[in-house]
Amino acid sequence: MQKLRAYVEEIVELNSAVALAFWDQRTHMPPQGDEARARVVARLTRLAFDRLIAPELDRLLREAEIESAGLPDRDRHIIAHWRREHDRKRSVPPELFQRHVAACVAAESVWEKAKEKSDFRMFKPLLEEVVMLTQEIAHKIGFTDSPYDALLEEFEPGTTTRKLRTLIGPLVDSLTLLVRACSDEDPPLGLPPGPFPVDAQRTLSHVALKAIGYDFSAGRLDDTTHPFTTGIGPGDVRVTNRYKEDDVLSGLFGALHEGGHALYDQGIPVELSWTGLHGAASFGIHESQSRLWENQIGRSAAFWTYFHPQLVRHLPAFSMTNPQDLVRASTRVAPSLIRTDADEVTYNLHIAIRFELEVGLIEGEISVGELPELWSSTYQRYLGVEPANDAEGVLQDVHWSAGMFGYFPSYLLGNLYASQLMNALERDISDLWDRVRQGELSPILRWLNEHVHRHGAALKPEELIEKATGSPPSAEPFIAYLNQRYK
Ligand code: ZN
Repeated sequence: MQKLRAYVEEIVELNSAVALAFWDQRTHMPPQGDEARARVVARLTRLAFDRLIAPELDRLLREAEIESAGLPDRDRHIIAHWRREHDRKRSVPPELFQRHVAACVAAESVWEKAKEKSDFRMFKPLLEEVVMLTQEIAHKIGFTDSPYDALLEEFEPGTTTRKLRTLIGPLVDSLTLLVRACSDEDPPLGLPPGPFPVDAQRTLSHVALKAIGYDFSAGRLDDTTHPFTTGIGPGDVRVTNRYKEDDVLSGLFGALHEGGHALYDQGIPVELSWTGLHGAASFGIHESQSRLWENQIGRSAAFWTYFHPQLVRHLPAFSMTNPQDLVRASTRVAPSLIRTDADEVTYNLHIAIRFELEVGLIEGEISVGELPELWSSTYQRYLGVEPANDAEGVLQDVHWSAGMFGYFPSYLLGNLYASQLMNALERDISDLWDRVRQGELSPILRWLNEHVHRHGAALKPEELIEKATGSPPSAEPFIAYLNQRYK
């Protein structure tokens, strides 16, 4: 076991260097640094990958597996984690893997141009190539029911297409009804129009991050174009954000969202460092942490009772508003075409559409050429809106060009998990909302530390949710939460 631990440490260290290089690229790197950075990241990634698929790791795992019955739980989780990673990556022939990487690089650069010109035809042959290679990879990895299961496993271990269908079907039915019942066509009233200085907004993000318990001595906040959070390693978890001069809430909810991700990484016990378990149970569990702080807490009346004076202090134009104005503006529902702008009621419908389409693509039931048509008709059916062109339709997301099939469901699962966790929090902390009104948010963080963060990547998402909440993953708490807040 000692040899195994020493071996995997180096993989984790290499990945930490990649994370730092990536963070720098998206925040402070000069534009001309692109080529040099790509070279270094490719080298580091390759070193980590080679070490991961090496027969030496297989040998060390076998040795550890023989003695595993007598080992503590943590060691057994470490063995299971690396066995899964190793087998999965080993199952794809290096030549196929390289072709897939090359196809994605080509597709992503054409996707950017195609989106600018709003021309799906430009992108179509490249996406066909990516889909074909992704199908091939799924077959190499192996599956029981659907090739899409093999892809899901990368993001949500243990989740299958069938399980997702049973969650998403009833969810779509409830959401389409709710959207019709509570949509608000009028622009939000009562907020000052701006412009709001970016400096003041950045300070407000600092205040919000501090309020939820983000530790600045183990992190930092920087500007970027597409906000993200990255755990470089223990003691170093960084948040990025962006600000719109005419929309304060966009930056503020961005800070709460990324802050939720960061609290997860900051809350993982230091003993798990360099083992491979100092990470999330899944992408969906990670997203549950961001959504819980952004939506369940950040859009609540209790939060705005506490936070409104802070907003006014840093952006005095808001002194003409009251907390209810901010709650109204934070919970406005309007069907839209763009996923990343969607409110929390319509958001999961955007995901359900992508889920249906990508399952169809990977299972071979849908051809790439049919996508624009199907995109429009499904948007019409679910949300009552139709894109006027490909840019605001099928070309809007980067994921497919990057070969990230199976990733979208994590966003949806994150919302469902967040509601289940919130129910458990309310059950365990009886005066929770009174405390939020006072700005006492630390009991929430402590609860999440104890029930979610503590496990790192040791548990599968389903196990974690069941352990933390007492129930397996379900859409019902989320539907109940939306009905309560929006109906
Ligand atoms: Zn997120």
